[in-house]
Formats: sequence, C-alpha cells, structure tokens
Amino acid sequence: DVPKPADADGVSADRVSANSDKPLIELSGVNKWFGPYHVLRDIDLTVARGERIVICGPSGSGKSTLIRCINRLEQHQQGRIVVDGIELTNDLKHIDAVRRDVGMVFQHFNLFPHLTVLQNLTLGPIWVLKQPRAEAEATAMRYLERVRIPEQANKYPGQLSGGQQQRVAIARSLCMAPKIMLFDEPTSALDPEMVKEVLDVMTSLADSGMTMLCVTHEMGFARQVADRVLFMDQGRIVEQNTPEAFFTHPQHERTRLFLSQIL
Ligand code: ADP
Ligand code: MG
Repeated sequence: DVPKPADADGVSADRVSANSDKPLIELSGVNKWFGPYHVLRDIDLTVARGERIVICGPSGSGKSTLIRCINRLEQHQQGRIVVDGIELTNDLKHIDAVRRDVGMVFQHFNLFPHLTVLQNLTLGPIWVLKQPRAEAEATAMRYLERVRIPEQANKYPGQLSGGQQQRVAIARSLCMAPKIMLFDEPTSALDPEMVKEVLDVMTSLADSGMTMLCVTHEMGFARQVADRVLFMDQGRIVEQNTPEAFFTHPQHERTRLFLSQIL
C-alpha cells in the first residue's frame, strides 16, 4: 500500500478525502539510533482516525523519541512513517505538510514568553496558515474558552500558573487545526493541584473526537480515555492492550514491574 505521491505543490490537494479510510498514522519497521545507541527498535504502530492511544514505560525507553519522530523533530534511520498519506523523508515540503497536521504539546509548555497569550495563539495561524488577523483572533478566543481561560488572553505566559500555561499550549496547537495531537508528559512538570485541570481539557478534547497519542503516566486518564495503552521498554513496544486488560492482566514481567511502581 503505497502513499499517494505528491503533486507539484508538494502535497496533493485531495489527499484528505483520498485517505479518509486509511489510518492516520502508520509506522512500520522503524529503527533509530543516537550514534551507537539503538533507541527505537522495530516499531510498528498504526493509529486510526479518532483513536486515543496512551504510551507509557520507564524513563529512557524511547517514548519521547518515538513521538518526536512523528513530526520529524527527530529523524528515523530505518522503516517508514506515514502521516495521513504523506511519508516522512528529507523532503521539506512533506515535513511542513506533516507538521501542519500534527499538534504537539510538551512537558514544558514552550510558549513564547515575550508574546501575550493571544499572540502566542495567533502567530502560527497568521504566518503559517495565512489567516486574516481578525479571524485568527476569533478562533483563538474560541479555543481559550474551550480550555476555560478566555480572561487570560492579554496576559503574558509568565503571569499564568503552570496549569494555565499548559492549557494555553493545548489551545495554541488546536488553533492550527491539527488532525492529531501528540502529548509528551503534559502534566509531569505541573504541581499536583494543576494536573486535573489539564487532564480535564485533554479528556474533553478526546470526547470531541480528536485523534490523540499521549505519553503519560496518568493511569486514571488512560483508563478513562484510551482505546489502547502501549508499554515501551528499551526502545520496543513490548505490549499493548485495552486499558482494562492492560491494567488488570499485564502480560510481561517488565510491565508488571512498571505498574507496581507507578500504581
Ligand atoms: P523517554 O521519553 O521514554 O524517557 P527518550 O526518548 O527521551 O525516552 O530517550 C530514550 C533514550 O535516548 C535515552 O537513553 C536518552 O538518553 C537517549 N536520547 C534521547 N535524546 C537523545 C539525543 N538527542 N542524543 C542522544 N541520546 C538521546
Ligand atoms: Mg520522555
């Protein structure tokens, strides 16, 4: 099954409809090394449209590297990564097209400190998507309402709590109208009392039908939201299952050990 070739503009205009019955993300035989270190080993992963996947596993197992490969923040050396019909190669037009489709939220919110919340949200839509400012601002306000902080629009990130900043980061991604959202431990840098407000926003995003790939150790969230939980260890996907089966009958010793440490 070969992805549709790009046309002269880099990406064919009809790929959305052409690929709507195909998985949104397909990784097959993906391997990656950092120098001699083999960080991702034979990763096969298919994400269907609307699917919610939680990835967990010990520190250093390759979770961040895996999701960073999906928007080419890292390069894989073997195998194929295809996002909505576009294969990630060194072709910059393909990389741009994929990044436009893939929203990412990091552990540290990565907001621009010298821009207001509203400016953080409208920067990409105005400069990358070429939206008129008024339209970009209207969309931004809608998403700020959705993450329940419209009153913070004209503040600077440094004036907000960590939980509020992370909700701004989520809203900022949503303003780019991504087809999938990647989360890399979005709550692990937050004070405990702020974790819930961010997980609530993520849960409502899942309820809205967004395709999501979340690296998180928030097992309550995984149980409530995930269609599938993946467990990674030493660069491999060791085990995957529905949350119910994953938590009640982990198959591998390493999974049992991991769960006994975090639950
Ligand atoms: P996780 O997110 O599961 O904690 P990572 O994907 O961040 O794991 O890292 C997996 C392994 O790759 C770790 O051993 C880490 O030290 C190593 N690693 C991550 N990024 C780099 C890099 N840029 N250069 C070299 N090694 C790296
Ligand atoms: Mg990580």
